[in-house]
Amino acid sequence: MRQVYLDNNATTRPDGQVVEAMLPFLTEFYANPSSTHDLGAASRLALKRARDHVAALIGAAGGDEIVLTSGGTEADNLAIRAGLAAFEDRNEIIVSCVEHPAVLALARRLAKSQRVRLHVIPVDAQGRLDLDALRAALSPRVALVSLMWANNETGVLFPVEEIAVEAKAVGALMHVDAVQAAGRVVIDLASSPIDMLSLSAHKLHGPKGAGALFVRRGLAVRPLLFGGAQERGRRAGTENVAGAVGFGKAAELANQRVRGDASRMAALRDRLERTLLQRVTGLQVLGAAASRLANTSAIVCAGAEADGVAALLNRARVAVSTGAACAAGSHQQSHVLRAMNVNHAEYGATRFSLSRDSDDEDIDRVLATLPDIVARLRGDAPVPSAVELAA
Ligand code: PLP
Repeated sequence: MRQVYLDNNATTRPDGQVVEAMLPFLTEFYANPSSTHDLGAASRLALKRARDHVAALIGAAGGDEIVLTSGGTEADNLAIRAGLAAFEDRNEIIVSCVEHPAVLALARRLAKSQRVRLHVIPVDAQGRLDLDALRAALSPRVALVSLMWANNETGVLFPVEEIAVEAKAVGALMHVDAVQAAGRVVIDLASSPIDMLSLSAHKLHGPKGAGALFVRRGLAVRPLLFGGAQERGRRAGTENVAGAVGFGKAAELANQRVRGDASRMAALRDRLERTLLQRVTGLQVLGAAASRLANTSAIVCAGAEADGVAALLNRARVAVSTGAACAAGSHQQSHVLRAMNVNHAEYGATRFSLSRDSDDEDIDRVLATLPDIVARLRGDAPVPSAVELAA
């Protein structure tokens, strides 16, 4: 039976063209981009082209605004520390309660260990940001507003471009974690005052361990890593050339395909949700009334634990994630679900996340297996065996 992969918010399949573009930089063109010989120049040129493609994906003014990093986590950390370091007379940060741990964990740590005041803005039951609370927190004491463009668990979008205007009005810097949004929604930084924006290659069919922070021209960034003068002194260390090349190719493809991919994924995702709602009682789609990414569907089934749903889907060769994370063997509820205060959150959420590779057959497999899985987990029928699920 064919494997169905609906866990694209965790990571995506590297595109064949991405792998092809990377290979020469793992074999023939392995020179250090800082070397002065011709081979070094080839690596340097490849890095420049990669930065240019990444810049084009987000409407940046040029490749000089792209700082290559090891991924989204590093980009988020760099942005937050740089935002705070940019001011001597401001020590407040604003984040939302549903940010990725790459933002939340650092922000909380800074609030504990340094003279940083943290505002954590709540969301409503649909996962939408409380804009009144955000506005109440904005003041000339705020150094940085850091918000995600799209939530990784629910796909809910925040109006970051409008918020950036309000953040700038009080003189704060605006950072956006666009790790889940890039390649899934059109991003045009030419028409928005966002100062910094995080990206990760592996969420858009590129390689793992490659990402970038967009830093608007004129904004000085204090590095996280000190050493050589790579990335214009903003990120020391010999660059991951093959990773950057793969990221560049992935960004180029995403830029060509983003609109078409989004409408195709939306049609598949909508069919999935519509049919499940008809076939399964007591099912909630998280953020259904909010503006959402086209590829994400997080559902809570009252009476059927998401971990059990995901395990049985796995037996039917459908890969999905749950909104719950297991830490040190103890079952922890997702901070996103908790923040949304959804009914039956104790059951956790099952997250289906599509990509441009997803097709009708993938959706059909879920539709053919999920109603039965939920019924059995609710005790309405015995738990099916792998053979039955595969049948
Ligand atoms: N931010 C968001 C919203 C994410 O979903 C992720 C990864 O899941 C990250 C940041 C971290 O990115 P990376 O895996 O490249 O470190």
